[in-house]
Amino acid sequence: MKQEFNIDTLSGHDFEDLIARIMKKVGYKDIVLTPKSNDKGKDIIMRYEDEKESYPVIVECKHQNFVGRPVVQKLQGAMLHEIKNKGFIKGIIVTSGKFSPTVYEYVKEINKNYSSTMKIELTDGKKLKKLCEKYDIIILNGKIQIITNNSVDFLDEKGVKNQIFREFHQIIGHKDDLLKFQSETIFYPCYYMRYNIDSEFCTSVGCVNTIQKSNEEIFLDGMKAGRINETLRNHFFGNGFPSIIQIKRDKNKKIIPFEFTEKDIEDVAFEMIIDENTEEVKYYGKNNVEYTKTCKPHPRDIELKDTKAVYLPKIVNQIKIKDQNYLQEVFSDKHNLLYYKNEFNQCKSCKRSSTLFNSHLYFCKTCGRILCSYHKRLDAIDKTPVCLRCAFKKKLLLQTKFFISKKNKNRYSKRYEKMNLLRKFYEDKIAFWGGVGLVSVILFGILSSL
Ligand SMILES: [Zn+2]
Ligand SMILES: [Zn+2]
Repeated sequence: MKQEFNIDTLSGHDFEDLIARIMKKVGYKDIVLTPKSNDKGKDIIMRYEDEKESYPVIVECKHQNFVGRPVVQKLQGAMLHEIKNKGFIKGIIVTSGKFSPTVYEYVKEINKNYSSTMKIELTDGKKLKKLCEKYDIIILNGKIQIITNNSVDFLDEKGVKNQIFREFHQIIGHKDDLLKFQSETIFYPCYYMRYNIDSEFCTSVGCVNTIQKSNEEIFLDGMKAGRINETLRNHFFGNGFPSIIQIKRDKNKKIIPFEFTEKDIEDVAFEMIIDENTEEVKYYGKNNVEYTKTCKPHPRDIELKDTKAVYLPKIVNQIKIKDQNYLQEVFSDKHNLLYYKNEFNQCKSCKRSSTLFNSHLYFCKTCGRILCSYHKRLDAIDKTPVCLRCAFKKKLLLQTKFFISKKNKNRYSKRYEKMNLLRKFYEDKIAFWGGVGLVSVILFGILSSL
């Protein structure tokens, strides 16, 4: 996919927002955007943390074409102010443009002379573009979008076909070699997020409730920003986050784009999390009167993390058997299929699925129809099942018929009665050979009398 990178369309504030988002994805913690009025050489304050060390990091964002040495001096001042001459601190300057050569020299000097107390890093427009690409962020129409090529790993076409054959084998009288496939994979956009929540609700008599959860998962539909349904969620994410592949584009693949910016989707997620975690609690006040308090978490109590955009693959099979068409839509992960639509499991005549009436389906090899036990009226010709419609319609020269029920046999007998003589010869072995014998005898008679 071609990644657009039109950072110029972002406002200064959105630019800072973009940088904060990237820093979050890089792994920095406790990211805070400083109020605009209060910018003293720092736009973002955050924290680096691993097993060994933890230190503050301040970021200065410069959405401009050219950054000179004074910006570095200002940042250095801010860094000194922040640590108040103790510990270690890192500073980062990010620009959508370029740094002057003197900036690089000056930063090199600082990093050398103050290596035990501070370090400054520079990210110019080129490097920023690479970071955006790395984290699947693009800027479209002045908004920060997430676009990805990542899809949940899924069964390839062959794997899906094998599963479908297995399904087809449940049908009595199945015949694999009549199946003709046409497959398309549709990729549905999905957002995955995790969150922590830590809310405390206090009244004049003390704290009455706390809501604390960590690593809760949330899955949103990338088209409508609603929650994705439970079955789909369990299918793809039931055993943890699945393995991911890059979508290779071709004409048999259709990719549905993500409709929302990262900001939009976070707003929706916050709303959902707040709704879901709002509780009513009863408590007694000082006067021993019972009160009810609605405990609604504040957005600042919620930490959203690990936002991932990922596609969920759905395979659409148009299957033709003789002149009958069957549609199947299956969500596929690496191991299993989740049928969204499956006409292999449905009677062609009444459209009921076999699970509904808990019985087998039957396949007529002659016309390709799959029928339920009620609609099958299945009979066999030379022990190959055909539906009754075919049994009546086809000319069944010299074939032996087996009827699966007396009713069907009687039905056929009635039809037979009404057939003209020629058709009767076709239908009936004895009549046919009798007729042939009779004609031969007559012919023989005629010939020998000449
Ligand atoms: Zn039926
Ligand atoms: Zn048939």
